[in-house]
Order: sequence, then structure tokens, then C-alpha cells
Amino acid sequence: MTPEVMARYEAVIGLEVHAQLDTVTKAFCGCSTNFGDAPNSNTCPVCLGLPGALPVLNKRALELAMRASLAINCKIQERSRFARKNYFYPDLPKGYQISMYELPLATGGWIGIEVEGEKKRIGVTRLHMEDDAGKSLHEGFADSDRWSYIDFNRCGVPLIEIVSEPDLRTPAEAYAYLTTLKQILKYTEVSDCNMEEGSLRCDANVSVRLRGAPKFGTKAEVKNLNSFRYLSHALEYEIERQIGLIEAGGAVAQETRLWNVAGGRTEPMRSKEFAHDYRYFPDPDLLPVSVSAAQVEDVRRSMPELPGAKEARFLGDYGITAYDAGVLTDTRALADYFEAVVHAGAPAKPAANWVAGELQRRLKDAGQDILACPLPAAALAELIVKVENGEITAASGKKVFAKMFETGKSAVDVITAEGLSQISDTGAIERIAREVVKKNPENLAKFKSGNEGVFKFFVGQVMRETRGQANPQLVNEVVKRILSE
Ligand code: ADP
Ligand code: ZN
Ligand code: MG
Repeated sequence: MTPEVMARYEAVIGLEVHAQLDTVTKAFCGCSTNFGDAPNSNTCPVCLGLPGALPVLNKRALELAMRASLAINCKIQERSRFARKNYFYPDLPKGYQISMYELPLATGGWIGIEVEGEKKRIGVTRLHMEDDAGKSLHEGFADSDRWSYIDFNRCGVPLIEIVSEPDLRTPAEAYAYLTTLKQILKYTEVSDCNMEEGSLRCDANVSVRLRGAPKFGTKAEVKNLNSFRYLSHALEYEIERQIGLIEAGGAVAQETRLWNVAGGRTEPMRSKEFAHDYRYFPDPDLLPVSVSAAQVEDVRRSMPELPGAKEARFLGDYGITAYDAGVLTDTRALADYFEAVVHAGAPAKPAANWVAGELQRRLKDAGQDILACPLPAAALAELIVKVENGEITAASGKKVFAKMFETGKSAVDVITAEGLSQISDTGAIERIAREVVKKNPENLAKFKSGNEGVFKFFVGQVMRETRGQANPQLVNEVVKRILSE
């Protein structure tokens, strides 16, 4: 497809995101949600769907779902209800999933995203609770030696599903939406959003239409995009595929597709299923969920500061750059670390530079999370103060930082051990400067005959002699004075 043809079309995207609620026990029974336990060890009659077993809603799961609802600006309904979504699959022993259908927990929210400096609000249609299915594992390739296993540990684990309005227009917007949603769910500790463990999964609905067309085109749904990269690639592929179909005079079929990772393409999985296929009906084993205004207020009060608010506060309170504010509020842990550095006495601006720059780089290189940072915030604050008040040069500061990061030693200990204190003694600098001038009579002559560029040469030499530890401003002054004698 040529860029000219592609440019005549516009994509329309809506995401359905599933997040696993970070509870200790399952949605409707007391079984552990711990990931990686021995297969089928965390099961009971309720989550195995044995006849007669009765589910009871996990209070904590409801609280977390309410917290997520408020964090994405949804209205929590006074009354919601669990329904049975009936279908057969080996990993679904009950023969139905417990979900919410016509009365979801929360509706009508939005998430603010930013793409290339452009801000946009993406509508959230609904947020509802449901339980997860088990996991099938397949092994072997030869027809005679193929095995399938089933692990019900994940069966009955609490999920929320968040359905967006069809407000997204590009893969980049979809990416930003998922990133922002993930950030919010992590900040609020609703979900750990671990994509490798399946705690965050995304289905993408996508259609295309000619730019300016009044109606949406027919959409296809791409299932189970369990990484950000897959989401981007699948959307790009799918948009081009649909435009190709229409340009060739065909039509997009309403269907469910799968992202083929190895092939780098989407493939048909099944024809679109409709709500009536699932024979939804209210679950007679569960009471309707009723939430009072007071309960909503309790959840609102217990809500931590959200990333957007934190970013705005950092900008206002600390006078740091928008870029630094964005980096520093990326995760709650990093933001907390930065604030601890400031509270320990470092001025905010350099603190932002160090944490967003040097520290982030180091952590990334070491493949380490800020939570496991070997450098306590107070120790970094001490170093920053020493650089700011000129006890050591900025260049030495970086060396000291590296040593502190590697050894866990304090700034003072590293500076003493390495002899890195900044030379701010004018007498010492002058002695070295005179030595340098004496050794370079030709350059002195050049300077005297008007070649001012040689000035830099002398300054450089003095810095070299002092192994970069001389106060650069003093060196400038002293060299200037000596040369003009
Ligand atoms: P369905 O009834 O097929 O499940 P919904 O109306 O429930 O469809 O929407 C499911 C998701 O698809 C939502 O995220 C919604 O924003 C998105 N969506 C709806 N129509 C379109 C469309 N024409 N193109 C792209 N996405 C769409
Ligand atoms: Zn159980
Ligand atoms: Mg739907």
C-alpha cells in the first residue's frame, strides 16, 4: 500500500483491557492467587465449578475495582450485577464465566493521553468485574506423542475489564492509552500489570474508513495482545490489511483474529461472536452488588495521588522541566525516591537531573529496579549537595556517584579514598598555572600577539594537571590574570 493511499484512510480503534486485581485470594473463594505455584494446587470446589459449591464475592476485589473505576473517572453504579457468560472450553470447568453484563460496576469515564505533545481524552465505556479461566498447556509435536495439560490455579482469579470508546485513531494513541492505563493501575496498586504473567492483556478492535466519512467501518477484533510491541505491530498490520481489502473492492469481515507472533500478521480465528451466543443471565448464586455513596467516598479517600496530579505538582512545586517531571513520575517508586532526595536536603533541580539522568541510566545498565536501588536517597542527596556547593567538581561527582552505586559507600568515603576533593585553593591553582605557562613559551607568545584562542589551551592544561579537580571558574580567573601580566 503506498503512503498516498494509506493517507486517504483513518483508523478507528477501541481497546478492551483485562487486568488481574492484586488480591491475595480469588474472586469468589479463598484459594491463593499466587503465580507459579504447583499446577492445580490452588483449587477448591468453588473455582473448580463443582455442583453445589457457592461463590462469595471477595470484598478486597470489589474495593480494588472501585479504586480503578475512580482513577479512570468512571461513575460507580449503586447497583451492579454478576451474570453468567456461558461457553464451553476445557479451561472453564463451570461452563460459564462469571462476568458483569447489563449492569456493569462503573461507566462513563475517560483517560487522558498524550502523543507527540498533543493531549486527548479517550472515553471509557465501562469497567466490570469478572473471573479468569484456567490455563491449557500443550506439549509435543509428533501426532503420536502430543499432550495437553490443564492448570486450574488461575481459574477464578479476579479481573477487571475496561472497555474504551472507539476514540483512538492511531496505533501510537492506542499505545499511549495502554501505557497510561497501566501506569494508573500500578500507581493505585490495583494490579501489578505484569504482562509476562498475564496480569494485563489487551484485545484491540479496529476498523478503517475514508477520512471524513461519517460512519465507522466494519471492525475486526484482534485477541490477546500480551505485549506493547504486539499491540503496535498488530494494529499496523491490521490497518494496512483492511485498507488493502477495501482498495481491492472487497469488504472487511466482522471477525475475531489472532496475532501470529512468528509470522508478524493477524489471522482469522473465528467469526465474530455476539452477546446472544453467550446466553447471558444473572448469576443466581450471587447477590447483586450494591455500593453506597459512603463506600465510594471511602475508596476515594484511600486513593493515592495519581500520576497526572503528581506530575503537575512536581512541575509547580519543584520548578523542574516538564521532561524531568514526566520521567520522575513514570512510576510511584521513582517519584518517591526523588522526593526523598529532596527531603534529605538536595536542591530540587539538580536532584531531578541526577535522578532522571545519571541514576536512571545506571539502573537501566544494571537491569535494576528503583526499588532495589543500592544507593539510599539520603546518600545521593549528600553527594548532590557536595557538587552544588563546590566541594567536588561535576565531573568528579559522576565518578563518585559511580563508585557509590557500585560499593554502597558514602560520598565522603569515596571522595577521601579517591582524593577527589575539588581544588579551590587559589595559591595551589596559581602555582600549577605558572608552571604550565612556563612550559609553553610559544603558546604564551601566540596569546601576546593576539591569538586569544590559546587561552582555552592553558585552561585545559591546568585542568589536566589537577586531574579535573580544580574549580573551573577559579582556573579561568587565575589563567586570565597570569596571561595578561
Ligand atoms: P461488540 O458488541 O462487537 O462487542 P462493542 O460495541 O461492545 O462491540 O465494542 C467493543 C469494542 O470495540 C469497544 O472498545 C469499542 O470502542 C470498539 N468499537 C466499536 N465499534 C468500533 C469500530 N467500528 N471500529 C473500531 N472499534 C470499534
Ligand atoms: Zn477456589
Ligand atoms: Mg461488547
